[in-house]
Amino acid sequence: MVNEEIRRDFPILGKITYLDSAATSQKPVQVIEALDDFYRNRNSNVARGLYRLAEEATAAYEDVRKKTMKFINAGNEKEIVFTMNTTEGCNIVMRGYGEKFIRKGDRIVVTVMEHHSNFVPWQELAKRTGAVLEIVDINDEGELDEADLEKKMKGAKLIAVSAASNVIATMNDIRKISSMAHDEGAVSVVDGAQYVPSCPTDVRKLDCDFLVFSGHKMLAPFASGVLYGKEELLEKMDPFMYGSEMIRVVGREKSEWNDLPFKFEAGTPNVGPVIGFGAAIDYLNRIGMQNIREYEESLISYMLKRLPEIRGLTILGPKDVKKRTALAAFTMDGIHPHDTAAMLADDGICVRSGHHCAMPLHERLGIPASTRASVYLYSRKEEIDKLAESLEKIRKTFG
Ligand code: PMP
Repeated sequence: MVNEEIRRDFPILGKITYLDSAATSQKPVQVIEALDDFYRNRNSNVARGLYRLAEEATAAYEDVRKKTMKFINAGNEKEIVFTMNTTEGCNIVMRGYGEKFIRKGDRIVVTVMEHHSNFVPWQELAKRTGAVLEIVDINDEGELDEADLEKKMKGAKLIAVSAASNVIATMNDIRKISSMAHDEGAVSVVDGAQYVPSCPTDVRKLDCDFLVFSGHKMLAPFASGVLYGKEELLEKMDPFMYGSEMIRVVGREKSEWNDLPFKFEAGTPNVGPVIGFGAAIDYLNRIGMQNIREYEESLISYMLKRLPEIRGLTILGPKDVKKRTALAAFTMDGIHPHDTAAMLADDGICVRSGHHCAMPLHERLGIPASTRASVYLYSRKEEIDKLAESLEKIRKTFG
């Protein structure tokens, strides 16, 4: 993988030092052009019209479903539901599976490192059903506390866990956690928002029951997301939204739902963004997910070495690069993360500061907020150097 060639595909990168890919990735011309071509030459609604343009749009939309299925090695196309984003995917499972199968007194397990999108729906489900919400702790290294996980998994009905944290970068052993869940007769709901964009993903190897992720974090347009679910589980779930193509028959008294995956795709879908998502998958496949992971590992290693050279800077999460995804959140003694981010912005560096939608985690770490730098396949070592130099300057300013 040649980074300089990749960078030429991203028009925006020449103008800024973009270290906020965990918030959303930049988009290559191939994706921008696919979107442009769709709206310019192929725009039509899908699964409705009988004219050629409509049939072609439908075929293109369904073709992306096939690509997505292959990309994560799902069993068949019925297992791929297009959503807006990770958040919608979590909510579809919470409403469609959780509200139907979780009962009063049942145990729902989440972890303290979850993004709010994979935390609040389960908290809300516990409130609505009278189930008990258990929160698995982390250890001092920022990894899941194994003993606590084992204890809380006993008798559980569902575990919601991220494959990779968007703050401490920890990558969890999803295969093992899913196997623990299955031993208890529970299902696993995996938040892949920070994992799927960076690592080869094989849902059959991971054996997770549900996997949710967002296209916008993996080169695709906003509002293109995926919910993967095992067919037999999706089959017995109720839809979360009603109307349009998710219906087969409507009677005065009751209605029948369409087949999978359409049962979960109410209303006119995000056709353009999904077409763009297909182009993003093509792009990632061309580079190779394993190559992307290896390249990112080299960048993370460099960040782990370079940033702690700055006095008072502490990186959150595991020290071992193999256990981390492509980001580093950090604190600087005596400097508020918002000040850090604002001063970096003055140097043209884009990072994020705050609680990163992970308030329980920040509370657990005993900090109100952190600053996060994140990289992707188009990032460069020189950008990490620029970040480090700017942080040095900030350190000097604050003393
Ligand atoms: N989970 C994780 C780990 C994330 O990083 C994010 C996005 N920051 C989400 C869930 C939510 O993603 P979205 O806003 O695309 O629904």
